[in-house]
Amino acid sequence: MIFIKNRKRRLVIIGVDGVPYRLIRDLSQTGIMPHTASLIKQGILRQMASSIPEVSSVAWSSIITGKNPAEHGIFGFTDLAPATYRLSFPNFSDLKAPPFWYHDPKRRSVIINVPSTYPAESLNGVLISGFVALDIERATYPKTLIPRLMDMDYRIDVDSQKAHSSLDLFLKHLDQTLKARIKAYRYLWENIDWDTFMVVFTETDRLSHFLWDAYEDPSHKYHQAFLRHFSQIDEAIGEIKSRTNEDDSIILLSDHGFERTEKNVYISSYLKNEGFLKLKKPSSGNYSDIDHHTRAFALDPARIYIHLKGKYPRGSVEKEDRDKVICDLEALFSSIEIQGKKVIKRIYRKEEIFFGPLSPYAPDLVLLPHQGFDLKAGLKAKEPYGKDIFTGKHTQHDAFLLVSDHSDDDIMPNNPSVFDIAHIIGRLCNGNTTPND
Ligand SMILES: [Zn+2]
Repeated sequence: MIFIKNRKRRLVIIGVDGVPYRLIRDLSQTGIMPHTASLIKQGILRQMASSIPEVSSVAWSSIITGKNPAEHGIFGFTDLAPATYRLSFPNFSDLKAPPFWYHDPKRRSVIINVPSTYPAESLNGVLISGFVALDIERATYPKTLIPRLMDMDYRIDVDSQKAHSSLDLFLKHLDQTLKARIKAYRYLWENIDWDTFMVVFTETDRLSHFLWDAYEDPSHKYHQAFLRHFSQIDEAIGEIKSRTNEDDSIILLSDHGFERTEKNVYISSYLKNEGFLKLKKPSSGNYSDIDHHTRAFALDPARIYIHLKGKYPRGSVEKEDRDKVICDLEALFSSIEIQGKKVIKRIYRKEEIFFGPLSPYAPDLVLLPHQGFDLKAGLKAKEPYGKDIFTGKHTQHDAFLLVSDHSDDDIMPNNPSVFDIAHIIGRLCNGNTTPND
């Protein structure tokens, strides 16, 4: 048997933000997503674990780097600037580990709409940042592409504000955003000689936040609109598939799952009531109002930080008392019940889930809720729980991964997580020696 070197293998990665394993399986079986169904037949589909916490910025940063948050440095959409109470919004320049497109600079990559890649940085190829991206100028590399994107009426994100006034307007905008994204992918597919092509559709997450109830309820006014969006996504998947060659590899994945929201639960409200959190003004929404007597506070969605002396300007918990405060917090969180239902499913200590040089910046505890409860920091919240316009929320256990590749039978881990993807990408790109007799 001799081994011959193939030409560079092309890799296509399609992301669908917030699409649960359960939904992709069901809609492929019921004929709403026939192209996805045929992709599933050719590959392996598995349920995938998301990051902890299960928010897009942490999940996608983990997907593209293959690193733990304590290595890549993205722990949530917000953070406190070190040694301050100033809320900061980590972006791509805060990512401390290189994404996969820098692993092999000889490969040319097209990267479209991956969340948390703003501002765009130079690479061998093209990058259009995903949310949160403030303006298209800084979201595009190279800048020569900007007039093209303007012509296409390209938008980085759906205007979710619209949903608050009119769901019809929101759905229209969702549709326009998806169409422009498809135009952009077609243009770059045809005009760039790429080796890796990645596009993420984030409209699915927006739709699910506002209309998850419409998915679950066939009599809902927007049930068909919900399914229609997924059949449009499926058409895009089918079109991309039809443009690939036989030896191209395809990965289809989501970053977390989704489920119905029954109630929002405001962690800070419990911390205030039990005396862990004291604010200078009790209904302040500002972290700079954290008082000296605070022992713990929360950042979204459910990251708990011990108010350690020396770490924060008014920190009051001595290092030797940290464990005691953690035990007291664990007792509090595991006792929370709403209308007879336990709220917290799992309390993770930092040492269990964060590994790497940036672990000093990691939250001390992260909470995962039972089904239906959407945990929020809710610094301002007066009530312990409530409800808002959102009917869907993220889940940690129910993302999905589909790999369609015939050269490597054991590429799919038994229990994949978002941290496996960069490794799989590396193998698909570099596994270019195949037996030949
Ligand atoms: Zn997401």
